[in-house]
Amino acid sequence: MVMDITQSKIVTYMNRAEGMVHIQAKSIILAMGCRERPRGALNIPGFRPAGIFSAGTAQRLVNMEGYMPGREVVILGSGDIGLIMARRMTLEGAHVKVVAEIMPYSGGLKRNIVQCLDDFGIPLRLSHTIVDIRGVDRVEGVTIAQVDEHMKPVPGTEEDYDCDTILLSVGLIPENELSNKINVQMNAVTSGPVVNESLETNVEGVFACGNVLHVHDLVDYVSEEAALAGKNAAKYVLGKFGGQENSAHTVTLEAVDGVRYTVPKTVNVGRMEDTVKVRFRVGNVFKDSYVSVYYDDERVLHRKKIIMAPGEMEDITLDRKKLLGYPDLKKITVKIERE
Ligand SMILES: Cc1cc2nc3c(=O)[nH]c(=O)nc-3n(C[C@H](O)[C@H](O)[C@H](O)COP(=O)(O)OP(=O)(O)OC[C@H]3O[C@@H](n4cnc5c(N)ncnc54)[C@H](O)[C@@H]3O)c2cc1C
Repeated sequence: MVMDITQSKIVTYMNRAEGMVHIQAKSIILAMGCRERPRGALNIPGFRPAGIFSAGTAQRLVNMEGYMPGREVVILGSGDIGLIMARRMTLEGAHVKVVAEIMPYSGGLKRNIVQCLDDFGIPLRLSHTIVDIRGVDRVEGVTIAQVDEHMKPVPGTEEDYDCDTILLSVGLIPENELSNKINVQMNAVTSGPVVNESLETNVEGVFACGNVLHVHDLVDYVSEEAALAGKNAAKYVLGKFGGQENSAHTVTLEAVDGVRYTVPKTVNVGRMEDTVKVRFRVGNVFKDSYVSVYYDDERVLHRKKIIMAPGEMEDITLDRKKLLGYPDLKKITVKIERE
């Protein structure tokens, strides 16, 4: 386990065989993943009975350790892990009674809603949250209620469910304690580092990828990003990674009008590969809308999408040849337009 990293790239780790070890790295890739948001962050009233698990813990218990966390299940939050566990628990013989989601849309992939809930007749109650948990030693039941536009429970909408287990799928938090130690600049929206086109952070030679950078729904994108970070870290170590001095110019990416963030945040046109994939998420459900990209004030992309949702990661591709045709470009804006 890595305990510490320093600005001068000294990495301190420990394990049973070697004890505590310090190594002088030339480059570091931050790839610590994320952790699940716990119940404590949620302020649900009630006692602290057994039977409340994060969905990832339940996944580990069922898939790796062969234990069933419970039989009568209510799931709070519709993140992908919660949706996948609704199906998994059902296949293992549990009765998943309901999935309650506080937002008016699911946080998971559409295909997981269809394949993990709809196919098994598990109801998804949007704009609902748990307002009470019954049980002292073990969970005995929950009350869910509808919430208004301020996320406040609406009196009179309460529904009771008897259950022995609650699974929480209420978000993931990037593991950025080590990143903070070396003053890596953070993006308040993703809670991950701000990176350039090479996935390098503001600390030279320190790269980031995967869930520590921004939360991914699919491992395929994580693998792509990891390969890019690895390649660039290797170039850095070999002295083949162009610095700012090699740059034609650096352009900033701005996320506005429905786009919550972009990864990367800047593009060094002199150093970028022939193409750079820019990933982003939208902040709401958009139907029959357009992903638009502006080079300063000129619209250069206007791509229709039938549906976009916060649970699905979107991307656009920047082309180096095209960018070289805009030597004075300062800003690339990514936004959602209705028409
Ligand atoms: C519970 C859960 C279930 C998921 N299920 C799926 C799925 O079924 N399919 C899918 O496509 N995607 C799934 N995902 C999505 C997930 O985004 C990716 O699959 C992928 O695992 C993320 O890769 P990563 O390398 O960024 O992080 P991780 O796979 O989390 O790897 C990070 C690693 O870093 C280690 N680490 C952290 N801090 C330190 C430290 N200080 N020192 C040493 N090591 C450290 C961690 O222990 C961990 O092993 C799931 C995500 C979660 C959280």
